[in-house]
Amino acid sequence: MPGLKINQEKCIGCGLCVKCCALNALRIENKTALVNDNCILCGICVDNCPSQALSIEKEDSEQTDLSKYSGIWVFAEQYKGEVLPVAYELLGKGRELAHQKGCELTALLFGKDVSAEAQKLIAYGADKVLLCEDDDLADNLDENYIELFNLLINKYNPEILLFGATGFGRSIAPRVAARVRTGLTADCTQLEIDHETGLLHQTRPAFGGNLMAIIVCPNHRPQMATVRPGIMSAQQFDNSRSGKVIPVSMPKPVAKNIELLEEVLSSEIDSIADAQIIVSAGRGIGAQKNLALVHQLAGLIGGKVGVSRPLVDIGWSEYKHQVGQTGSTVAPKLLIACGISGAIQHLAGISGAKTIIAINTDPDAPIFSIAHYKVVADCVEVLKQLISIFEKSEY
Ligand SMILES: Cc1cc2nc3c(=O)[nH]c(=O)nc-3n(C[C@H](O)[C@H](O)[C@H](O)COP(=O)(O)OP(=O)(O)OC[C@H]3O[C@@H](n4cnc5c(N)ncnc54)[C@H](O)[C@@H]3O)c2cc1C
Repeated sequence: MPGLKINQEKCIGCGLCVKCCALNALRIENKTALVNDNCILCGICVDNCPSQALSIEKEDSEQTDLSKYSGIWVFAEQYKGEVLPVAYELLGKGRELAHQKGCELTALLFGKDVSAEAQKLIAYGADKVLLCEDDDLADNLDENYIELFNLLINKYNPEILLFGATGFGRSIAPRVAARVRTGLTADCTQLEIDHETGLLHQTRPAFGGNLMAIIVCPNHRPQMATVRPGIMSAQQFDNSRSGKVIPVSMPKPVAKNIELLEEVLSSEIDSIADAQIIVSAGRGIGAQKNLALVHQLAGLIGGKVGVSRPLVDIGWSEYKHQVGQTGSTVAPKLLIACGISGAIQHLAGISGAKTIIAINTDPDAPIFSIAHYKVVADCVEVLKQLISIFEKSEY
């Protein structure tokens, strides 16, 4: 059996391994170390053992019986009882993948008082909803969710598991992957089933967005990926769809290593990721004071403000406004890009925009290659004119 091996003849029961384990995976009994299921094979105890009594035996990939895994799972993250839009987007992609694999699509809905959202998940494409309602899930503490994921994955053996690359999704997905000993591809921009192998092709930008890497997880299950909000499209809401809601129980006792003392509203909640209209500025805006025009126009047309990375780097704007590969991925109905050149790292964040109006003094600016409306002009002047029009109109 693979795992953490303890040589009882060498172990001196000093307890150093217990002290250095952050997951409470070890204890000393009868002067010998013992390991439990919390162990993720991080190896810290092995490095700290003074008597070389600990070692890690790796899993032989051929031992994993892949045939027992089936079905596609989507984590339906919710905040204060409301499912986030990224979950519906993942269900849209999950539906396509389930169709290709000929399997069921299951949404995972966990939290306190969240059952009202289950039918919506079915209407957006889920065949089943695994529903866990429990007070211990109220505070979105990673540890409790990971216990639950571990239990359900081992019970139901899903083949594919998708998370939104939100703050919470990014935090728990790698920990779940480590717990069930599989791989994880972060920030995928495309997911497809390979027709020959049936494997999930997980595409994501690499080397600063200059190439797209296709990553597969051939020997372990589930195949796990995170996808940023705004990348995939939700399918049409269809309330006539029917599906099964399966209640599941929270494993007890849950880990109690973390206590929520205070909740501070993250900028993510107020982020531009879900905005329907964005007015975005780049270096071509010329001066920090001109950003006031961008805010003014956004306010007049019910939009939010985005910026390119250099404006964040020079301190003109906050990171929560940054659009692009290392900022937010956005998919608004309307994006007005003012003085943005259209570097590949910026375009990576706006490819989901339905209509792009680009304003740039350079007629050959790369942003024009994806813009639907091209305005070759000084963006500061155009902003002033648009503001004056919208101030007068009853828009
Ligand atoms: C690993 C990595 C990650 C990155 N991540 C991001 C990211 O997440 N987001 C991001 O934005 N960038 C990112 N970048 C930076 C990216 O490569 C570009 O440098 C950046 O997007 C350029 O920003 P810009 O278009 O505002 O500036 P510039 O490239 O300098 O373009 C300014 C544009 O404004 C035009 N202009 C000038 N004056 C006017 C005017 N008066 N009116 C109208 N147009 C005018 C110019 O013609 C030009 O096209 C990343 C880079 C790396 C290496």
